[in-house]
Amino acid sequence: MREPRIGILGAGQLGLMLAQAARDLDIGCRFYAETDDAPAASLGPVITGAMDDDERLARFADGLDVVTYEWENIPVHAARRIDELVPVRPGTRALEASQDRLAEKTFFVGQGQPTARFAAVDSQSDVKDAIEDLGFPLVLKTRRLGYDGKGQRMLRQPKDASDAWQALGGRPLIAEQWVPFDRELSIIAVRGLDGSIACYPLIENTHADGILRTSLTPAPKLAEQTQKAAERCAIRVLTALDYVGVLAIELFDVAGQLLVNEMAPRVHNSGHLTIEGAVTSQFENHIRAIAGLPLGDTSIRGAAAMVNLIGNHPPPADLLAVKGARLHLYGKEPRPGRKLGHVTVCADTQDQATGRQRQIQAIVAGGQQ
Ligand code: AMP
Repeated sequence: MREPRIGILGAGQLGLMLAQAARDLDIGCRFYAETDDAPAASLGPVITGAMDDDERLARFADGLDVVTYEWENIPVHAARRIDELVPVRPGTRALEASQDRLAEKTFFVGQGQPTARFAAVDSQSDVKDAIEDLGFPLVLKTRRLGYDGKGQRMLRQPKDASDAWQALGGRPLIAEQWVPFDRELSIIAVRGLDGSIACYPLIENTHADGILRTSLTPAPKLAEQTQKAAERCAIRVLTALDYVGVLAIELFDVAGQLLVNEMAPRVHNSGHLTIEGAVTSQFENHIRAIAGLPLGDTSIRGAAAMVNLIGNHPPPADLLAVKGARLHLYGKEPRPGRKLGHVTVCADTQDQATGRQRQIQAIVAGGQQ
């Protein structure tokens, strides 16, 4: 096995796909994780330990060129501790800006990037004030550690307020106006060590129960100005954070106007289709960026669509029977709501890609087309 040069905090499917991209560049990876039964374990040594175990973190960092992370909720102090020994990319500023929804939205507004209207909520009377200020419907979210729609409650009428407070209260919260979006988009962008930036074409995403289900790129009926606006937003954020690596920004498209939902300072589930669909995948571009290598071409070849496999999945043979289908399974035990893998379909045209995506969705839903 190659001598590890890159360290990855976390060893889940994102770590796995990062390490696969690194392997193609003959760069070995080492992982740091809380357990060693992780999806990425087949691709490099896993050092197990707690995120506050400074000694083990130092052992993990020993001899590496650079450390990155696959999850934005790693404690900032762990990243700081490692950064004293080996550069951490993207840096701790990106972690701080994305770990707290209030700080994140405040940061975006400060960068001139509009978001849904929001208010900090720390008490039951703050919920009332937020309702008065923002109106219904609104969504109450925990400010920290929420992902895939976890830690969120919708408020549609006054009587929902006390249930939502019962469920979430006692932690720092944020209230957000519910955005009547036409669709959800994401922009994936990458900034190199030399400050160069490349953006992928916008991706259209669908969610159910707060979890990403499907992605399609290039997003259909995409006006050039929408792509440009998303790129301007990404460039602004990457530059403000002196960011190195791949960044994903989730956006609401409201009649062609973009509102920022949130960002992920890492490779992103909606970008998995870049493995087969783009000249250079998001994973390879992240590795290139943090290793100080030139960035790769972000063009999409034709069109690409992705379907997540969540909770359980049909037999691989059924999925692979669809033309253009590529299957990625992460080696995880089935569990409700768990991302077990994804299928990507590539095609020459968007219509073909969406047709194949629908076939996959029908198979996943249990019916075969
Ligand atoms: P989040 O974890 O904040 O990304 O929320 C998960 C999903 O819930 C998003 O992808 C949207 O589909 C939906 N969502 C969250 N916040 C809002 C909002 N303020 N307005 C409309 N939809 C939202």
